Amino acid sequence: MNVHDSEKMLGVLSENGYSEAEGPENADLVIFNTCAIREKAEQKFYSQLGRTKLLKRGRKSLKIAVAGCVAQETKDKLIRRAPYVDFVIGPQNIHLISHMVTGRLQAGLFDDNQKLALQELAASRKSLIKAWVSIMYGCNNFCTYCIVPYTRGREVSRPSSSIISEVDDLAKRGYKEVTLLGQNVNSYKSDIDFPELLRKIDALKIDRIRFVTSHPRDFSEKLIEAIAELPHVCEHIHLPIQSGSDGILRLMNRGYTYREYLEKIDVLRKKIPAIAITADVITGFPGETAMDHEATMRAIREISFDGLFAFKFSARRGTKAYGMDGHIGDDLKSQRLSEILNLQEKITYKKNHVLEGTTQEVLIEGPSETDPSMLTGRTKTNKIVTISDNGETPGSYVVVRIDRARQHSLLGVNVSLDGVSAGS
Ligand code: SF4
Repeated sequence: MNVHDSEKMLGVLSENGYSEAEGPENADLVIFNTCAIREKAEQKFYSQLGRTKLLKRGRKSLKIAVAGCVAQETKDKLIRRAPYVDFVIGPQNIHLISHMVTGRLQAGLFDDNQKLALQELAASRKSLIKAWVSIMYGCNNFCTYCIVPYTRGREVSRPSSSIISEVDDLAKRGYKEVTLLGQNVNSYKSDIDFPELLRKIDALKIDRIRFVTSHPRDFSEKLIEAIAELPHVCEHIHLPIQSGSDGILRLMNRGYTYREYLEKIDVLRKKIPAIAITADVITGFPGETAMDHEATMRAIREISFDGLFAFKFSARRGTKAYGMDGHIGDDLKSQRLSEILNLQEKITYKKNHVLEGTTQEVLIEGPSETDPSMLTGRTKTNKIVTISDNGETPGSYVVVRIDRARQHSLLGVNVSLDGVSAGS
C-alpha cells in the first residue's frame, strides 16, 4: 500500500515538473512515506530523518516532507520533535502534495475525509510489467493491535468503472500483472462486490491478477468460486491467520476462530488444488501463554503454509492492545518468533522441494538482485524462480524446469528454449 502511495506521490510531482533524484544528496525535496504498523519502522524513520536534517544543514534549500501513517498519527508531536521538517501530510491528502511544495498550502494537511482518498491520481510506476491498483482505502475492522483504522480511516471503495478503466489502460500499455490493493479487499463494495469485480477484470486483457490483503472472516465461498473459475486470477492467496489460539484471536478482535479459518483453507484447497497459501502471524500478543503459542505452532504444522510473515507483537499507542494486561518481554517474544520461523523454514523448503522436476510457467521480471548474471521471475503461485540469463526479455513468459529447491526460491532451466512453447 505504501509503495503504491509513493508511486502516486511521484506521479503527482511528475505532473508538476519534478523528477526522481538519484538520492537525497541530489534532491531538492526528500519525502518520507512512513508506516506506523510496527514501532521498529517508526524508529528507523526517525533515525533516517535525523540524517536528512544534517543534509539540510549544509543545504538550506532542501525541503523535507513526511507523509503516510506516522504523519497522520503523530501530527503535532512530529512537528515539535522535528521542526526542520517543512511539510507533514496525511495519507488521504497525497493529491495536494504539489500544492504544498509550491507554497500554495499550509505545512500540515490531515483532512481525513475518506472521499479524498478516492481522488484519481496518475501513479508513476517503476515496473513496466507489474502494477499495483488501489481498489479501496481504510478499514472498519479495528483489530486491537492495529493503527490502520485510525490513520487511514474507515473503508471506502473506488467505483468499479474507475478500477476497470485503470486496469484496461495498463493492459493496453503492455502490463502483464496487476495486484488489487486494499486493507481488506474482500469487503470491497461499490456497485458490485469483490468477486464480481474480479470477474470484470478477468475479462480484460491482463494475464495475471493478484490481490492483497484478504481478511479470513470475509473470505467467502463466492470469492473462492471466482478464484477457481477465473483463468487470470493467480493461484496464490495471502490470508493472515495471526494466531492459532482462539483466545488470542478473540483478544485481537479478529472475528474468526481457528476452526473457521481452517475450514476456509480446506475449501480453498479442495476447489483449487494448486493454490499456494501464505499468511501473517503475530507472536507475543499480550496475554499469550505457552499453550497459545503451541496452538499457533500446531496451526502452522497443520496448515503447512507455502510461506509465512511472522512478527513480534509491537505495542502501538492509540490501539486497544496497547493498554491490555499481560505484555510479554522481548526475549520471550524473540524466542517464540524464532521457533515459528524455524518451523516454517522447514515447511517452505519441503514445499519447494516437491516442485523439483516439474515445469512451471514463469513471468520474467528482470536480473536477480543477488546475482545479476541470472534472471528471476515468478510462477502464478508467486514462487520466485531463478534461471540463467539467455536473453529472455522481462515481461516474457518461459517454461522452466525446476532443478533445485532453495530456501526462498527455486532454481531452474528455461525449457521453452528446447521448443516447448510458453504462453500466458
Ligand atoms: S483488518 Fe488489517 S488493516 Fe484492518 S484493522 Fe485488522 S489488521 Fe488492521
